Amino acid sequence: MSIQDNINIINNRIKSAAEKRGASPKDVLLIAVTKLHDPEEINQAIDSGITDIGENKVQEILDKYEKVKPVRWHLIGHLQRNKVKYIIDKVSMIHSVDSFRLAEEIEKRAEAAGIVMDILLQVNIAEEESKFGIKEEDLPELIEEILAKCPHIRIKGLMTIAPFFDDPEDARPVFARGKELFEEYSQIKHEGIDFEYLSMGMSGDFEVAIEEGGNCVRVGTAIFGNRDYRREEK
Ligand SMILES: *Cc1c(COP(=O)(O)O)cnc(C)c1O
Repeated sequence: MSIQDNINIINNRIKSAAEKRGASPKDVLLIAVTKLHDPEEINQAIDSGITDIGENKVQEILDKYEKVKPVRWHLIGHLQRNKVKYIIDKVSMIHSVDSFRLAEEIEKRAEAAGIVMDILLQVNIAEEESKFGIKEEDLPELIEEILAKCPHIRIKGLMTIAPFFDDPEDARPVFARGKELFEEYSQIKHEGIDFEYLSMGMSGDFEVAIEEGGNCVRVGTAIFGNRDYRREEK
C-alpha cells in the first residue's frame, strides 16, 4: 500500500465517521503525524493532498523544515519552555499547552516575533499518570490567566489523548467528555479565545473520536506504517 492509498482509505473512514454524526468530512482536519519519518515520505503525503503535519519533537521540526514542501506544521508533543524560541515562527498551532509557565514563554516569543500564536490546551481527561496535559478542573484558571496576561496567544480549542485500549470503543467516554468540555468553554467570549478545534483521535481510535465530536485527528501509523523507534537514539 502506498502513502497515497493509505490517505485515500483514511479519508473514506473520516467521511463515514463524520456522516454518522451528521457532519461533513470537510469539518474534520486530518493532521498527518510525521515523527520518525523522512522528508521524502512527508513530501509524498503532501503530494497526496495532506495540508497539515504534526511533529512531537522540536528537533525533528528543525531537521526537516527546509526539506519539506510548504505545509502547515503542528507541534503536538510535550514542549519544553527553552525550545519555544526555535519553533515560534515555524508552526501554525501548538496542541500541547498544559501550564501557564509554558503559555508565558509562548507569549514572550510570539510578541518578539510579532505574531499571535494559536494554541490548544491539552487536557488529561483520563488523568493518566504517564500523560501530559492538565486536569479538567484546572482548565478555568489556566484559560483565565492566559486571557488576562497573554495577548499574543489565541486559544483555539482543546487537545486530548485517550488511554490506549485494544478496543477503541473503550475510549468513547473520554472523547465524549472532551466534546462536553469543548462545548462548555466555547461559550467564553473574549478576543483571546476562539474555539474551533477539538484535537482528538489517532490511528487506533480516530473514528470513535470523530463520532463523539472531534474535528481534528492526528494520524501517523495508518498513513506511514510503523515507526522505527531506533531512529530516536541517534
Ligand atoms: C504519535 C502521535 C500521534 C499519532 O499516533 P499514531 O498512533 O501513529 O496515529 C498522535 N498524537 C500525538 C500527540 C502523537 O505523539
